[in-house]
Amino acid sequence: GQRVLVVGAGPAGVQTAVQLREQDWPGTITVVGAEPHRPYDRPPLSKAVLTGKAADSAFDVDFDALGVELLLGRNATGLRTGDHEVDTDAGPLPYDHLVLATGAEPIPLPGAESGLVHLLRTLDDAERLRPVLDARQHVVVVGAGWIGAEFATAAREADCPVTVVEAADRPLAGALPPEVAEHMRRWYEEAGVDLLTGRAVTGVRVGAAHPRVVELADGSSLPARAVVAGVGARPATGWLAGSGVALGEDGAVLADERLRTSAPDVYAVGDCASFPSARYGRRLLVHHWDNALQGPRTVASLLVVGEAETPPYDPVPYFWSEQFGRFVQYVGHHDDRDELLWRGDPQGASWSVCWLRDGALNALLAVGRPRDVAQGRKLIERAAVLDPARAADPTVPLKSA
Ligand code: FAD
Repeated sequence: GQRVLVVGAGPAGVQTAVQLREQDWPGTITVVGAEPHRPYDRPPLSKAVLTGKAADSAFDVDFDALGVELLLGRNATGLRTGDHEVDTDAGPLPYDHLVLATGAEPIPLPGAESGLVHLLRTLDDAERLRPVLDARQHVVVVGAGWIGAEFATAAREADCPVTVVEAADRPLAGALPPEVAEHMRRWYEEAGVDLLTGRAVTGVRVGAAHPRVVELADGSSLPARAVVAGVGARPATGWLAGSGVALGEDGAVLADERLRTSAPDVYAVGDCASFPSARYGRRLLVHHWDNALQGPRTVASLLVVGEAETPPYDPVPYFWSEQFGRFVQYVGHHDDRDELLWRGDPQGASWSVCWLRDGALNALLAVGRPRDVAQGRKLIERAAVLDPARAADPTVPLKSA
């Protein structure tokens, strides 16, 4: 029979194995993962796992029953496409079809001496951070992005004094325009977090009077008991150097519209790969859970029934985040050309904002309004034109004009 090898045992890798069996793949499936733990989910790491409300977030998947071989604690180090073999730190593994699902790795904090800064990507990272929360230590968080805000939320819940340092002039600067992100500044204040924006971190060192000293570009410094960096992630594709699998400048595997790579019989899913979106007229690199779950369906379908019966992968991206007691959701993809339309009062407890392109809904951000997301997603899928006056009224459902 034919052998599928999946490299990476995160949500995208595990879902690839599950989808292959669901679609009746008759051959063998092997999943290789660098981490020693039973495969687990990441979103709870900055939420229930961090606060100790959940012990872990292992996937509820019976790999034996699915006939999936798991090789854990094993690192892929290279790929020889001509031989159809992946090299690992415990010897080579042959494949007929290879699925790359190595996800992303956190960008290290520049200037930080090694071992002085916590990251938050893995179960081990979360377990190292738990005692910091238990001891209510003063934490400096570097980066006011999604992860930084989620960590700050958990740390405040645990009664830690928290300072967040952000190089940009506002939180979520990479994700949202100023007029939207400006409202999130207040969330930090209300949660009792000291948010310092426009302050770039240049280094972290051990202090004489304090366990850690965070140095800033303006020459000042901040003392801390612990430092957590949340300054972004990049595709974990270093091991593919020289393999012939084409990578983009962002380090992502350049997948095509059905998630095939430039190498024969090699596919890529999840955080490690970008794909061309006809819907948005550009290549997308999505670092969110829903994308890790959806892509594997396309790859499994390609392998089981073939290209003719597999539609291109062109999802409406979706993600959620839990920030300072608020449920934040985003669906679609906006850019600077889009027109912003408020739906509700951003000073209030729940509101949404829509991005319109030529009158059609392109993206939607909702705070505590999950119904807007469900309705918005369908409208985005159809590129439906909205009546702006109606869409701005949060008391009526979102509908096409
Ligand atoms: P990963 O989850 O990164 O899994 C890849 C796996 O491959 C890892 O286990 C890695 O060890 C392994 N690997 C890497 N290189 C190799 C190698 N060379 N050999 C063998 N194995 C290798 N998204 C949301 O939409 N909502 C959220 O609320 C949310 N919260 C998050 C909170 C945290 C703390 C983090 C870190 C992420 C969060 N995300 C969230 C993002 C989401 O978890 C990711 O998009 C998702 O995990 C991507 O899945 P993946 O399988 O592609 O990659």
